[in-house]
Amino acid sequence: MSNEDIQFQSIKTESIQGVGPKFAILLNELGINNVFDLFFHLPFRYLDKTKITPLNELKANENALIVAKVYANKGFVGSKSKILKIGVKDEFASADLLFFNTYPNFAQNFSIGKRVLAFGKVTIDNYQGGYSISHPEISFLQNSENIELDKNLTPIYHLTKNLHQNTIRKIIQNALNLLKSQPLEELLDESTNPYKVSLNQAILNLHAPLANEENKQILNTIEFKRICLEELIAYQLSLITLKNKTKTKRAYALNSFKEIIDPFIKNLPFVPTAAQLRVFNEVLGDLQKDTPMMRLVHGDVGSGKTLIAMLCALVCALNNQQCAIMAPTEILAMQHYKNFTGFLKGFNIKIVLLCSSIKKAQRDAILESIKSSEAKIIIGTHSIFQDDVIYNNLCTAIIDEQHRFGTEQRVALLKKSEHSIHQLVMSATPIPRTLQLALYSDLDISVIDQMPPGRIAIQTALIDNQDREKLILRVKNLLSTGKQAYWVCPLINKSEDSNNASSATEVFEELSKKLAPFKIGLLHGRMKTQQKNEVMVKFLQNQINLLVATTVIEVGVDVPNSCAIIIESSDLMGLAQLHQLRGRVGRGSSESYCILLHDTANQSAIAYERLQILKQSNDGFEIAKKDLTLRGPGDLIGDRQSGFNNFKVADFARDNELLEQAREIAIKIKDNSNLSVKLIRRWFPEYII
Ligand code: ADP
Ligand code: MG
Repeated sequence: MSNEDIQFQSIKTESIQGVGPKFAILLNELGINNVFDLFFHLPFRYLDKTKITPLNELKANENALIVAKVYANKGFVGSKSKILKIGVKDEFASADLLFFNTYPNFAQNFSIGKRVLAFGKVTIDNYQGGYSISHPEISFLQNSENIELDKNLTPIYHLTKNLHQNTIRKIIQNALNLLKSQPLEELLDESTNPYKVSLNQAILNLHAPLANEENKQILNTIEFKRICLEELIAYQLSLITLKNKTKTKRAYALNSFKEIIDPFIKNLPFVPTAAQLRVFNEVLGDLQKDTPMMRLVHGDVGSGKTLIAMLCALVCALNNQQCAIMAPTEILAMQHYKNFTGFLKGFNIKIVLLCSSIKKAQRDAILESIKSSEAKIIIGTHSIFQDDVIYNNLCTAIIDEQHRFGTEQRVALLKKSEHSIHQLVMSATPIPRTLQLALYSDLDISVIDQMPPGRIAIQTALIDNQDREKLILRVKNLLSTGKQAYWVCPLINKSEDSNNASSATEVFEELSKKLAPFKIGLLHGRMKTQQKNEVMVKFLQNQINLLVATTVIEVGVDVPNSCAIIIESSDLMGLAQLHQLRGRVGRGSSESYCILLHDTANQSAIAYERLQILKQSNDGFEIAKKDLTLRGPGDLIGDRQSGFNNFKVADFARDNELLEQAREIAIKIKDNSNLSVKLIRRWFPEYII
């Protein structure tokens, strides 16, 4: 065990000079819980204050450090006389320094002839053609004073409200001083570290790199790759360990009950696709063995994964064994419950729903039925694996929409029972195959690569915010035909975020007026479960015509009569998420629409291009592939929701070319269990089994 690491992970940030309780909370908001985390709060950009730019070499839109003398105090200018303008020059040229909203006395610092050091972004004056620097950092110099320039690039860190750049810089510097006296143990050697730089050195360099061009782009540095690689190796090792530990245990070998299952499938209200049948057979093959199933069923939204789950649960119940189904949201758990009870009503199988809105007395009764094995199919959110839920003979766990969950659930399951449980993980996350293999390398993979017949392709359109009123009219027309629609907003309330994303409550009020007399519903994550359920049930029963919602409806919700989805601020969302949202429609047999509202005036070309991808393709895998190639480094939109954010530094999509390498190295290391444990403990202590 690496003592040094454990120490850093258990040292609170408050033990670092400059961090009090207030800053500790702010750091927490950035995901920094201890000193170890501080080391890996890497800058995302650097400023170069290592050299002075003569005024005749200024370039618009670039940062520059200048030394010059004040030659004119031009006073306060601008429409409200709020901008203080100071003319400065060196021996080559002149420029203006602009200060906004300063206090009047500040101007007095700029006496003629005063020597200043200023750093900031250069802009060019459209009218006069001169250069200026807007609100520069400034220091006043003595005439003969020698200037000591920085030797290293200046790091810029991600911040949170009330935490300033200079503060976090000092805090991290103080933490790094600890690292200098007590380096992290180097766990990679020549054969496993192609980058030839130690972890310790990589961390120190990235926080204060030498000023050369290669270092300016942090993502391209060997130090950054070195760190990502180690984290990915550790992740692979934790998957390998998880798989090995699970496979050493015995699971219950089930009877296939073909004589019951086959007629049941024949009598379904729809004909299963060939892909569904093939995948179910693969699952059935696993269930009949006494080695635990560890299978991922991958299929695009709407491909019919629920049927696989239901058949799997049915087989368990027929064997008198319990099957637990975990959904990522209560809404989805409810929906599964409704579906399962409907489809399986011909059997005498007790199905229970365990969710937080259930009253205590009822909950106790449910828990009792789980304990006594009267309940055979147990549906709920992650709460179904809590300690107070005691199973009698749990034989299979189905985890729906895995992208919302980490590997944690699989670890938790393994810890929960002495014998092993068959595990079926279902996901629609559109990720390319190479990523899939690395991300789920502990699982066997089945793909539902076919959609149920009769689906009409969803029409996707990009509509500018300016045409919003016209759009609302069109939606009104649609509602008057008896069809329903979703209207999705990224936020609940406006105050949540500073950017222009629309808020669900505001849009709800707006549409309630403009779409009257149609009934509008509101659904967001902060509503009480009971309220959420009521809204969802009303929407299902067509008592609500249009549902304004946050992305809580992203996963799994299935209301076939809803045939349009309008997505606000779509340019701010990730493609994978948008594709998931779009999957809420096109579930019935009528023409469906996905409208991506966006703001042409305020968005980058890349944002527009990304939306175009969605318009051109309905194929989740295709979309994921293109998104990867378009994604600029550091462009993390949509990632945070994707559930892979349990990485400190690495990013699956961005670092995909490191993945294979990490996997190969992990396989080399895996038999050295001492080293393997050290690596897992350093990066994924929660995955230690
Ligand atoms: P997902 O893979 O996104 O979980 P669902 O299982 O929710 O998809 O299925 C989407 C819809 O398609 C549901 O209404 C379901 O009843 C229906 N469905 C599933 N399989 C078929 C099929 N073979 N033919 C017709 N409809 C199907
Ligand atoms: Mg589903």
